[in-house]
Amino acid sequence: LSPLALHLYIYRSKSTTSLPTFLLVGPSGSGKTSLLTLFETGKPSATHLSQSPLTVECDLPVATEAASNRFRSRNDSSNREHRKFLLSDTPGHGKLRYHAVNQIVKPENLRGIIYLVDASTLSTSSGDEHTGLTEAAQYLYDLLLILQKKHTTSKTSKGPSETPVLIAANKLDLFTALPKSHVRTALETELTKLRSTKSKGLIDSGVGMDDQTNEEESLGGDGEGRFTFALMEEYNIPVSVAGGNVLGGQGEDTKEFWDWIGEHL
Ligand code: GDP
Repeated sequence: LSPLALHLYIYRSKSTTSLPTFLLVGPSGSGKTSLLTLFETGKPSATHLSQSPLTVECDLPVATEAASNRFRSRNDSSNREHRKFLLSDTPGHGKLRYHAVNQIVKPENLRGIIYLVDASTLSTSSGDEHTGLTEAAQYLYDLLLILQKKHTTSKTSKGPSETPVLIAANKLDLFTALPKSHVRTALETELTKLRSTKSKGLIDSGVGMDDQTNEEESLGGDGEGRFTFALMEEYNIPVSVAGGNVLGGQGEDTKEFWDWIGEHL
């Protein structure tokens, strides 16, 4: 390695670790690559098949306020710095999800996790065993349990810092899409079912994530009654739900997604 290359390497790794990072996860086909392209370039474009994690640098739109900027003057030159962040895409395919797990377990300035779902695949009416809802809920279950365990096994008395999770209901432009409020209830209902199935030990927990999830710990506490996202607050994991679409005939609508990012930047 030449000194120049080394210098560049250090400079680059420094600049990547210092920027606030959001992780983008979710089942494949939910629109992660589309969202990443839109947020990086400001315009939608044809997507590629994601095989490896891809991190892009984004700027918060001028219209969206960053929480950290609220008390800063408009002329403060650090404003621009605080509006920049990294968005890291992870492959949605089950076998590749360890990339996502690695980043959650070893976060570098992680500010939050965006869990993108295709709201048009969440309907339960098909009566199919493996609906999009089941898949979306299983991945979300694994994700939340990893975060919960990170909190409960933390050495410090306060536990790790907050890890906000946004459930981003995408493709709301499609008429088959479940409305945002239904997305929350549908996922909570499915997670309740999953939790009781898992506690009975009927299914193998965690596809490809066994080491992280294969223990008795129950999602959101004692495992009794209905699971709600509010239960995760106990573990410093505030969960919000937002709706939008990153593509669509009428143009995109990502305001709620941006607002959430702004709140945590
Ligand atoms: P990924 O596998 O999560 O990266 O998903 P992609 O970004 O590759 O998107 C999967 C498919 O959904 C592509 O055909 C996209 O064009 C389409 N798509 C993504 N977002 C939207 C959306 O908001 N609305 C509609 N109608 N289609 C979308």
